[in-house]
Amino acid sequence: MNRVSSQEVTEATKKALIERGVSIRAIAEIVYEMQASYNNGLTIEECIESVNMVLLKREIQHAILVGVELDKLAEQRKLSEPLQSLIDSDEGLFGIDETIAIGASLGYGSIAVTTFGHLDKNKIGIIRELDTKKGVKVNTFLDDIVAAIAATAAARVAHKKRDEEDRIALENSRIREEW
Ligand code: MG
Repeated sequence: MNRVSSQEVTEATKKALIERGVSIRAIAEIVYEMQASYNNGLTIEECIESVNMVLLKREIQHAILVGVELDKLAEQRKLSEPLQSLIDSDEGLFGIDETIAIGASLGYGSIAVTTFGHLDKNKIGIIRELDTKKGVKVNTFLDDIVAAIAATAAARVAHKKRDEEDRIALENSRIREEW
């Protein structure tokens, strides 16, 4: 069995997001909104960079691939019942979409998890757009996954700022960059 290369997974991940109408900039705009009030001088470019770093994280990539695949299969009505109906109706008690998304965002600790909860409840920016396409498109998994990417990128921005404030040695921040 051939081992799938990281590069192949990274490319498939970005392709899946674009195909489903989610741009990196749209996610970065959520990150900006979440962090701007805690971070004077934060730029959209820093948020884009943070989203790009998060999209290299395997847990996030795998969550995107699984979630988008299930959304697409549900849209094509290719799933078995009752899963087909649970996913295409975005049944309120079906929590696997949130569970996968929270699981993927755990790597950045409590800021990521609490920000995810906030985004899940308030549906900001592209998350709201995905939510309003209901009935035409199935985005049951994607809205939560986008919230997880934004929450993780926001937590990353917050941690990075604190590191800079504390003047932690450059080497330490490199180690953090490499996670
Ligand atoms: Mg959902």
